[in-house]
Amino acid sequence: MSESIDGFFDQYGGRYVAEVLSRPLNELESAFRQAMKDQSFLDELATIRRDYIGRETPLYFAKTATELLGGAQIYIKLEGLANTGAHKINNAIGQCLLAKRMGKTRIIAETGAGQHGVATAAACAKLGLECIVYMGEVDVRRQQPNVAAMELYGAKVHAVTSGSRTLKDAVNEAMRDWASHFDTTHYVLGSALGPSPFPDIVRTFQSVIGEEVKKQCAERGIDIGAMVACVGGGSNAIGFFSPFIDQKEPRLIGAEAGGIGPDIGQNASRMTGNASRQGIVQGYKSRFLIDEDGQSLPTRSISAGLDYMGIGPQLAALGSSGRIEFTAIRDKDALEAVSFFAKNEGILFALESAHAGAAAIKLAKEIQKDKAIIINMSGRGDKDVFITSPVFRPAEWIQFLHAEIERLESQKDIHDAKSMEAQ
Ligand SMILES: *Cc1c(COP(=O)(O)O)cnc(C)c1O
Repeated sequence: MSESIDGFFDQYGGRYVAEVLSRPLNELESAFRQAMKDQSFLDELATIRRDYIGRETPLYFAKTATELLGGAQIYIKLEGLANTGAHKINNAIGQCLLAKRMGKTRIIAETGAGQHGVATAAACAKLGLECIVYMGEVDVRRQQPNVAAMELYGAKVHAVTSGSRTLKDAVNEAMRDWASHFDTTHYVLGSALGPSPFPDIVRTFQSVIGEEVKKQCAERGIDIGAMVACVGGGSNAIGFFSPFIDQKEPRLIGAEAGGIGPDIGQNASRMTGNASRQGIVQGYKSRFLIDEDGQSLPTRSISAGLDYMGIGPQLAALGSSGRIEFTAIRDKDALEAVSFFAKNEGILFALESAHAGAAAIKLAKEIQKDKAIIINMSGRGDKDVFITSPVFRPAEWIQFLHAEIERLESQKDIHDAKSMEAQ
């Protein structure tokens, strides 16, 4: 089941949208199918992957971690070394290139924590496209470093003030924009979810991760026992697993956000949690954290990228069929995994990816010593300093923030003069 059948993965997926979105979705689907058969498109994508994204990313043998954990050989796929620091650029570049081919000049995207917004803004800067990022007003306020990066790349960040002013409202706003401007505009959706054909498109552009792993393991004679990825919407996981889905082996394991506990509002466990239900939300059928009336329930995770209420339909189907196993990783175990790999391997995991790291730490002894566990490090952790520093060294961090404010306020008259000059 590596591709959908009429947009469905078993009972999940589909295209549950208002009539106005049928045309852009149909147009996108046929343009995508044509592009993937066009050698000049594939060649251009391959060149950008090599020269701009920095592919292929290394498959790193974590020797010290392997010795310390005393089980399987631990390998880490270093997606965090991709330009912009995470796997999201694989999808952003692919879709922006497709949009250009379709003659679109304007790109819109939704973003929650800001990572997908940053990747899309960078891709648009590289390819010379106008970029508008819809972001909930609440997220704009708490994710300023990413907003600053998007603006540096030349994107316009549009703060969404409807509803809860977070990710799902940003998605609604982007859909609305797309419905009325699709002649000039492509909507770059950020994960392997949403109405068909987005789950197929995003998986296809992310499957470069799994294809590389397959090749790297074959070249080096690595026998894979298990592969582990973190799961937000599911794009890094499905891209990493994709070439292995139709085989019985290796074990494929998705790590969801276990947050601070099993109760409603304490986690974002769509596959393992007790608040999970089947539903149709934002254009597709899948498993969601919603109540009986289909209203979204609050979610929680220390990692900003794993707290969406839904999961991609293909992962939901593969979880139900048993091909992919799911586990929930608590915040504290993810933090411990960040320290473990930083201290023992010199590799700083993003908090999201550290959920996969923590799952691998738990799994290591279950897998034979001559087999490998491959962890997808979906991103690097530099971006998390505002979350990890207050946990690991709170007093110093508070002092630093106070000092920064003082420093900036003492320079305020300089900034004021500068902005006057500019006017
Ligand atoms: C956004 C993000 C995720 C979660 O998104 P998926 O679509 O589930 O991959 C995971 N890791 C990092 C580093 C991210 O930025």
